[in-house]
Amino acid sequence: AAKGSATTGTTLNTHALPPATAPGERMNATFVTLARNGDVWEIARSIRQVEDRFNRKFNYDWVFLNDAEFDDTFKKVTTSLVSGKTKYGKISTDHWSFPSWIDQEKAAKVRQEMKEKKIIYGDSISYRHMCRYESGFFFRHPLMLDYEWYWRVEPSIELFCDIEYDTFKFMAENKKKYSFVLSLYEYVETIPTLWDATKSFIEKFPQHIAQGNSMAFLSDDDGKTYNHCHFWSNFEIGNLNWLRSDAYLDFFNHLDQAGGFFYERWGDAPVHSIAAGLMLKKDEIHFFNDIAYYHVPFTHCPTGEKTRLDNKCHCNPKDNFDWNGYSCTARYFEINNMQKPEGYEKEHS
Ligand code: GDP
Ligand code: MN
Repeated sequence: AAKGSATTGTTLNTHALPPATAPGERMNATFVTLARNGDVWEIARSIRQVEDRFNRKFNYDWVFLNDAEFDDTFKKVTTSLVSGKTKYGKISTDHWSFPSWIDQEKAAKVRQEMKEKKIIYGDSISYRHMCRYESGFFFRHPLMLDYEWYWRVEPSIELFCDIEYDTFKFMAENKKKYSFVLSLYEYVETIPTLWDATKSFIEKFPQHIAQGNSMAFLSDDDGKTYNHCHFWSNFEIGNLNWLRSDAYLDFFNHLDQAGGFFYERWGDAPVHSIAAGLMLKKDEIHFFNDIAYYHVPFTHCPTGEKTRLDNKCHCNPKDNFDWNGYSCTARYFEINNMQKPEGYEKEHS
């Protein structure tokens, strides 16, 4: 029988009623989560919020990826929470291992040094595979090939406002390819040579650099040095075909050859951000002021009381990170000649 169905007694058979969702037009889109079996209760919390605030009205699919097999508990719990179809993929070993050209001894020495310097995740091998996978492979997983748009969700995130429109459709209609809610400065110790590799990429593949790009978001001296600004990639809504383009793949392969995923600890956030900053036009990158979001330790709470009230937000505006000196979001507004959202002055801390 269908779950919760009742045919006798005083309980009403709610399954006889029409579904609460409007069967409208859908985009070719999916949520995507990389997770371990042990993340099940943390991802359950995230899914519950994404469903309550957005997806119960749209029923988009959800793809889960893992370097190991997902267990029954993970599949049962997540399938029960997601209103769309759920799909579970195992990552192939060649997408989650050291490439042949990596010098293992050198990589091990770096991990030891980073451990001594107490750099977060500095001694972790799995974290490096994770960052490399999110940088270069998730969008090529066989389960992802069916889709054009993705929304990345991590464990233990929060959404604080209702989202009353289809964000994927918004991206498509406004010709956006990449989006963010939080931006900040990367720890320089994790990426000391990432910009050198970027510059050699620019030299080798000038055809991939977009006219009217966001170089000014990434660099204060017209490309000589990196200012470490990046979009925080634990939240992303983006276009998968862009990530699967020759331009993006040439960039990823160039970085992968340089070895910094293992000889340093390059994160997928600066990698995606530099790619978007250089290979997309400025107005192809969108800032979602109205998606209120938390991932430890930062909050994006929409600027502007009207936005917060209209969308039933429950975040404290004082927690908003956007206009803090460690955020790069003001810079994003400036290089795009965009008006800061209404209320910015008042809420500026
Ligand atoms: P942080 O946000 O940078 O602190 O990193 P997280 O621990 O949140 O990891 C980022 C994402 O990758 C999350 O969705 C994790 O569930 C996932 N993740 C991290 N390490 C692994 C791993 O070894 N295997 C799998 N399958 N997922 C991982
Ligand atoms: Mn995380």
